[in-house]
Amino acid sequence: MRLKKLELYGFKSFAERTEIVFKEGITAIVGPNGSGKSNIADAVRWVLGEQSAKILRGASMQDVIFGGTQRRKPLSYCEVSLVFDNEDKSLPLDYAEILVTRRVYRSGESEYFLNRASCRLKDVVDLFRDTGIGKEGYSIIGQGRIDEILSRKGEDRRQVFEEAAGIVKFRARKEEADKKLARTQENISRVDDLLEELK
Ligand code: ATP
Repeated sequence: MRLKKLELYGFKSFAERTEIVFKEGITAIVGPNGSGKSNIADAVRWVLGEQSAKILRGASMQDVIFGGTQRRKPLSYCEVSLVFDNEDKSLPLDYAEILVTRRVYRSGESEYFLNRASCRLKDVVDLFRDTGIGKEGYSIIGQGRIDEILSRKGEDRRQVFEEAAGIVKFRARKEEADKKLARTQENISRVDDLLEELK
């Protein structure tokens, strides 16, 4: 599986319909400060289901829609597609090419598509689970992430490795279970108190 192409329309600084083709081998994107290099990485994260405006470097989710310039009006929606080569069928869909699309309107309404058929965010997340490509995957290493990895604090580095090893989800589940247990224990002691009063 390989990312072949990224198509953008109205995403951040990409007001025009834009196609970025990734040929086999190394592709480097270069440009002056503020020219939109990081917006490209944000677009990939966004299609894969990123829900945090902060991670996408905005204040609200609608900030990803082209906001206009002195010469150009803001747009009412944006759309980004990723085109994957799936000749090796490493993604569990019977297509040689997979197109994943996300669209969002200023009203906040969000839509996802797999090979142009409407789907849920969950379908996109499930498709990329355990491939390393999902929004939590390590296929995108942001600038802050590099600082975390290089950090001298053992705890920070450990967090990165735990996430890569897939331990974080178990830790989160354990925390959830601990909270549930604490709530249940509270309920039991309340019931005990009531029983005591009824005696
Ligand atoms: P650097 O090299 O400094 O990290 P960069 O090439 O990564 O820069 P980006 O951060 O990707 O640049 O792009 C920033 C530009 O995108 C800014 O000019 C900003 O105004 C523009 N931009 C971001 N969001 C929007 C939006 N919703 N509408 C229009 N332009 C936007």
